[in-house]
Amino acid sequence: MSERLNVLIISIDTLRKDKLGVYGNKKNITPNIDSFAKTSIVFDNAYSTGPWTGPGFGSMLSSKYPSDLGYTEEKNHNGEEKVYIINNNVKLIQEVMKEKRYMTACFQGNSGVCYPEAGYGRGFDVYETQTKKDNTFNDFLKFIGLKKTYSAILTEKAKKFMNENRENNFFVWINLMEPHVPYAPFKYINKARFISKDIYMAYFENNYSLLNLKKNPEYNLSYEEKIYVEDKYDMEVKIADDFVGNILNHMKKTGLLEKTIIIFCSDHGEEFWEHGDNRSGTYDRGVDHGHTLYNELVNIPLILRIPYQHKKIKNKNTVSIMDIAPTIIDLTDNDSDYGFDGIPLIKGNKERKIFMESIMYGTEKKAVIKDNIKVIYHPDKEKYEIYNIEKDPNEKKDISHLNDFNELKSSLLDWIKRDKIKLSKSKISEKGEKQMKQRLKDLGYF
Ligand SMILES: [Zn+2]
Repeated sequence: MSERLNVLIISIDTLRKDKLGVYGNKKNITPNIDSFAKTSIVFDNAYSTGPWTGPGFGSMLSSKYPSDLGYTEEKNHNGEEKVYIINNNVKLIQEVMKEKRYMTACFQGNSGVCYPEAGYGRGFDVYETQTKKDNTFNDFLKFIGLKKTYSAILTEKAKKFMNENRENNFFVWINLMEPHVPYAPFKYINKARFISKDIYMAYFENNYSLLNLKKNPEYNLSYEEKIYVEDKYDMEVKIADDFVGNILNHMKKTGLLEKTIIIFCSDHGEEFWEHGDNRSGTYDRGVDHGHTLYNELVNIPLILRIPYQHKKIKNKNTVSIMDIAPTIIDLTDNDSDYGFDGIPLIKGNKERKIFMESIMYGTEKKAVIKDNIKVIYHPDKEKYEIYNIEKDPNEKKDISHLNDFNELKSSLLDWIKRDKIKLSKSKISEKGEKQMKQRLKDLGYF
């Protein structure tokens, strides 16, 4: 039997870091992840490379920044509205693992962005995802408990795959989608408790646009309604945590736990009006994700467990989602160099600069963090916002007037101007492009 370690990445799409007990939340909605963290390395200053799925997971798999992947271009090569596909000229971690004769599989809840033809399928032996969104009738069957949710199906398939390939070494990525809009926690929701007719109608009549205030500017949510909406999000987090518990129990029961490197993370967070709810501008809706680089969107949970780890270790270094692939290589094959831009997670240090970019809604923004100082640059206005995220974690006090911060500003500008990896021509067919656009629409991206 092989001595090599297996690799399992469990991600929860759109999961805010501050919803987890291990990061200080008091609601006890993530008991399984919290318990997992008790024997893991818990990263306190982990960042995604951008505020939505494409940059987050694109960078996780490639260890490259979004502008090297094609996630900062607004137009396709033919000048049309962009359908995002990971640059074919970059190598993905699952391709490396496949070359090393790992059996590779992805169980993907986000079929809108992480569609196999969008580059995510490269290097995976098995790629499970939905081909179209569930319809209202299916939602109703799930609501009354007659139909499994998609996460339940993915969890079962992932467990089966790991069992079947336990002798071969596996590289498995499971992405659970519960906290992404719509917030429809079937297990807990009670129709009679819908707080307002508006929200009820928004959910049942316009399912995937519940919080798409761009499309629904008439929804003027009251304070109570906002609390209600966030509470439904929390319930979705709890449901996703149940699935994480299910997977981890399986790992324990089958003895795979001490043969597998397990990485837990999210791709980005979600905002609940932390930076305003001014909806006068198309993109200033204050909820959802994709339109700012503030911490509620880019500061992510990240937890790493190595076999036979027995206690929790807190790590305060500034690290990036780009560091996941180099960490996997470091722990399974430290002789090779695959040209990744990240570094192994435990080798971070205070001097390190972490960059962010890729706005999906509105004008592009770029940011850098070093030693708790975060600089956000607005290229269209040539303006900076600067925050001390240790003293002001909610980014409410812009300190750009206190100091010139020239070193950080110029390193950000140098990074923006650096030579980027040449983008490959899109290989997606016209039909495939149409399908992808529809998927993004279904998920509320367009
Ligand atoms: Zn996402």
